[in-house]
Amino acid sequence: MPLVAVYGHTPPTPILRPRRLGTRARVLVSAIGLAALVMVVARAGAARTDLDPAESEEDAALAALIAAEEARAASWSLAAAVPVERIGYRRGHRRSIEVVALGPQAIEVEISTARAFLAMREAARADGVELQLESGFRTREEQAELYRAWRRGRGNRAARPGRSNHQSGRALDIAVNTVPGAREWLEENARRFGFKRTVKSEPWHWEYVEVPRARKASKGKKARKHRRGKAARKATRKARRKSRRARTAQRR
Ligand SMILES: [Zn+2]
Repeated sequence: MPLVAVYGHTPPTPILRPRRLGTRARVLVSAIGLAALVMVVARAGAARTDLDPAESEEDAALAALIAAEEARAASWSLAAAVPVERIGYRRGHRRSIEVVALGPQAIEVEISTARAFLAMREAARADGVELQLESGFRTREEQAELYRAWRRGRGNRAARPGRSNHQSGRALDIAVNTVPGAREWLEENARRFGFKRTVKSEPWHWEYVEVPRARKASKGKKARKHRRGKAARKATRKARRKSRRARTAQRR
């Protein structure tokens, strides 16, 4: 088929364009190459002088990043923690307890609870779960405020001031809704570190009861479940609900 039939007119002469482009491209490539070489040489020269502003800015940014990471890690350790004395309450009785501030939000936690929590946090981290605290020790004033808020219909249910295990230093609220995997990890492993869930409707509320008790509690639960038949379970359910309601009121 003649080309005229395709184009409808004489085809354009494709002779000079590619060669001219080729020349231009070659010139462009050598120009870029030269510019790159100049830049490399200039940078090498600059790197030799210690006071280059761009370099020291980069160094400063890196140093700040490292410092921030170190501070974050230190906030989850007892190494530099300074214990502070607070007035806590256990079953309504005043007692003096020592607390330390944990995490970037400096949440106060009773020291033996803190030790157990940090060990647990390390293990969770090794499994890729970064446990975070939402609440720890509460002063009487803080508990009173939460209690008032709950009574007015705002916030979670809170125990009467003096009756919360957040005041004894044993209760921690751990972020289970915002940290992926936290809830499952805790359900699976927390008892190994002495933590136990005590309020059925609050998956974030964990209490430090020490390892043997937490283990026994979870073992006993399984064993009882196994032993009991359906009828017996039904009969005790009601009684348990009643006593749980009473206990729960003392914990949040
Ligand atoms: Zn709680």
